[in-house]
Amino acid sequence: MLKLDILVLAVHPDDAELGCAGTLLKHIAMGHKVGIVDLTRGELGTRGSAEQRDKEAALAAEILGLTVRENLCLADGFFQNDQEHQLKVITAIRKYQPEIIITNAYHDRHPDHGRASELVEASAFLAGLVKVETHVDNVRQAPWRPKLTLHFIQDNYIEPDIIVDITDYWDKKMESVSAYGTQFYNPKSSEKNETYISSPEFYHTLEGRAREFGKCIGARYGEGFTSKKLLGVDNLFSLR
Ligand SMILES: [Zn+2]
Repeated sequence: MLKLDILVLAVHPDDAELGCAGTLLKHIAMGHKVGIVDLTRGELGTRGSAEQRDKEAALAAEILGLTVRENLCLADGFFQNDQEHQLKVITAIRKYQPEIIITNAYHDRHPDHGRASELVEASAFLAGLVKVETHVDNVRQAPWRPKLTLHFIQDNYIEPDIIVDITDYWDKKMESVSAYGTQFYNPKSSEKNETYISSPEFYHTLEGRAREFGKCIGARYGEGFTSKKLLGVDNLFSLR
């Protein structure tokens, strides 16, 4: 079995890169095993196709140095937080047994983000219940509940509960974001449809947010996270 330390469960390929790539890179550099399970292939995205997004996600995974990346192929835009979908997410959580889950923002401009966040939060709890049965290759999975579920912050501003200093990983994070050549600003792109995220302004907004979070903790760049659970710490000196 492949056990992960951190598992990102996010609805669209590129959500993880935008929301927490710096934090993932930092923890991979510390020797932790990190993976991403995308819930959908982002097939409703205005620019590019699902096949292109698959390739872009694979390239980003390579840039980040992920241990694993897979896709649950739920329906972009139309998946629900119901039993059928929860069982698929629970199966992924039990398969990788992560200590920490990172997922979408509580609420956002894109309605998929908040709904995915609720789906993942519910599944992370249910994955720990012994009477919730899931199977892989006819073998019953053991229950597993991660210690912590964190939510990254996407388009809408949400006040973070913690901020991670990602200064040393900013350039690499942006390299992973740029792997999505069909989605974001790309002067060489032949795409005719401009979208909210394909303008050069989107990059400036992303950097502005990271600078603002960084400044709050005395760093150049930061990524913010929220948690529904109160957070504890073993050593006061790891706070700043
Ligand atoms: Zn998204």
